[in-house]
Amino acid sequence: MGRQIGGPEIERLIALLARLPGLGPRSARKAALHLVKRREELMQPLARALAEVAERILVCSVCHNIDTTDPCSICADPKRDRSLLIVVEDVGDLWALERAGVARAHYHVLGGHISPLDGVGPEDLAIASLLGRVKGGEVGEVLLALNATVEGQATVHYLLEQLAGSGVKVSRLAHGVPVGGELDYLDEGTLGAAIRTRQTLEAPSTAPAKAHDSNDGGPDDDDKENG
Ligand SMILES: [Zn+2]
Repeated sequence: MGRQIGGPEIERLIALLARLPGLGPRSARKAALHLVKRREELMQPLARALAEVAERILVCSVCHNIDTTDPCSICADPKRDRSLLIVVEDVGDLWALERAGVARAHYHVLGGHISPLDGVGPEDLAIASLLGRVKGGEVGEVLLALNATVEGQATVHYLLEQLAGSGVKVSRLAHGVPVGGELDYLDEGTLGAAIRTRQTLEAPSTAPAKAHDSNDGGPDDDDKENG
């Protein structure tokens, strides 16, 4: 324990802030000082927001997302595609996919991954409720958007077995080269996955043939026209 820098209330605030992810004692002191200096425009609204959310927070009984309503606003959204169900490990993953804004789908939050070493088995995750939703009949495709870790992929295999025979299409996220990524900087695992999950390229639809009068040669003729 370092030397105290304020009264017990301020020390308590710093100690609590230091328990937030990404904040150590040093940044917690910085944040506390920032809050104390901006009491009216930041600290009090933040305290009210924290109290309000703490009071109203609910776990969605359908998808296990966290929201202030149950069913959550995603489950209650009539504009979403009910036939696509995206399975994620954690609420943070759901938020990340929603931020990307690529799929107006429904979700199912497992609450983690299977990890025998940590004593986490299938029965500790929201798998029974997932299978129940799939049996409901509205789902046409289950996208297993789990982490590309050993545990995440072991969970993918387990879910694949459980979903076999359910009649729904099961897919998973592609593994491979990140957007903007240079091959030279990728680890072997990522490169290997990128090669194993390679995609066939479709040739772009051919442009209308040019009006050549006497073109019986190959494509080489065109290439050499200006040379
Ligand atoms: Zn929900």
